[in-house]
Amino acid sequence: MEEYDDIRQGVRALCAHYDAAYWRGVDEARGFPEAFVRALTEAGWLGAMIPAEYGGSGLGLSEASVILEEVNRCGGNSGTVHGQMYNLFTLVRHGSQAQKDHFLPRLASGELRLQSMGVTEPTTGTDTTRIKTTAVRRGDRYVVNGQKVWISRVQHSDLMILLARTTPLAEVARKTEGMSIFLVDLREAIGHGMEVRPIANMVNHETNELFFDNLELPVDSLIGEEGKGFRYILDGLNAERTLIAAECIGDGRWFIERARSYAGERQVFGRPIGQNQGVQFPIAEAHIEVEAADLMRWRACREYDGGVHAGASANMAKYLAAKASWEAANVCLQTHGGFGFACEYDVERKFRETRLYQVAPISTNLILSYVAEHLLGLPRSF
Ligand SMILES: Cc1cc2nc3c(=O)[nH]c(=O)nc-3n(C[C@H](O)[C@H](O)[C@H](O)COP(=O)(O)OP(=O)(O)OC[C@H]3O[C@@H](n4cnc5c(N)ncnc54)[C@H](O)[C@@H]3O)c2cc1C
Repeated sequence: MEEYDDIRQGVRALCAHYDAAYWRGVDEARGFPEAFVRALTEAGWLGAMIPAEYGGSGLGLSEASVILEEVNRCGGNSGTVHGQMYNLFTLVRHGSQAQKDHFLPRLASGELRLQSMGVTEPTTGTDTTRIKTTAVRRGDRYVVNGQKVWISRVQHSDLMILLARTTPLAEVARKTEGMSIFLVDLREAIGHGMEVRPIANMVNHETNELFFDNLELPVDSLIGEEGKGFRYILDGLNAERTLIAAECIGDGRWFIERARSYAGERQVFGRPIGQNQGVQFPIAEAHIEVEAADLMRWRACREYDGGVHAGASANMAKYLAAKASWEAANVCLQTHGGFGFACEYDVERKFRETRLYQVAPISTNLILSYVAEHLLGLPRSF
């Protein structure tokens, strides 16, 4: 039996109502899987990480990772909901008592959604400490100016965690200091200092450019202490990377099962194509790589849930799992031959979806540079 079998069975039962045809339809319409997200919320899975005293189930990153893995393993796309999972970890760990009292019960009940996190900027990219979006304190308000890019699910969220500079880079001792995070009420912000422009993109992933022009935020929207936002965000990013690793494991298992089943059925030259070692070996190899990546995903989950710094494991899990799912996607497409390109087989959709994780939420090169510098002690490259 697999770990967390009860959660797996519960999520699978829900996902059975949202089959391949459902996800294909959402993809073709470039729509949002509203019915699925609502059902996942109502069943309590999206608030599972919220402590029980606020109406959640008080589960950890391990359980959250299983929920997202299963969504992808069933053929769905958990990129439509994962934001709420990792953002909740940030709010639960670093939010004030008043923020938790106000928001967590509403997030647990589904009255509110916290699906968005605004970090990336168009002119600074991965070089996060150089972000140009500023939040300047004026009396009982912070005034935000700047721009973000690739900020997802803004149109299907009520709240967003925003990273902005509160002390200019030139005035801080270390470049990681002087940034802060805010809980932005999108319902109040959009049209009052914040503008949203959708970005058409390769996957059906609702993502946007954001423009801030004197957006006013009440001081109590600050999460934690002013100037320490980068540290809080990094903590959340380790959760995010681990969750994405689990999603990739789910994708990888979906691709391998599809490839295995098709290779057993498809007859060419009077025998199943899977009888040829040229077809079966790549599937076997992809399976080995997914299973190996899964071990690192569990190491990251256990460290994070145990309160141990999970930076190294989370990064390595994301690297291995994204690579393994992409290899599995490629093998699955190749196994299907021409039919892999037909939308009704869902392989091309999942192929596009899993490709994203080589780039977001952190690109492969940046993980390699983290490992080279922080784990191997090689000279800093930037
Ligand atoms: C669909 C989608 C959804 C997203 N959702 C969100 C979101 O909700 N919130 C959010 O904040 N961001 C989001 N992102 C942004 C994502 O996190 C970034 O795209 C990603 O971190 C890479 O940043 P960049 O695109 O600016 O690439 P760049 O930083 O411009 O890098 C471009 C390429 O150069 C490489 N590179 C850059 N510097 C180096 C170096 N020093 N050494 C080696 N290689 C280097 C990178 O690895 C990359 O391959 C999303 C992106 C996409 C595509």
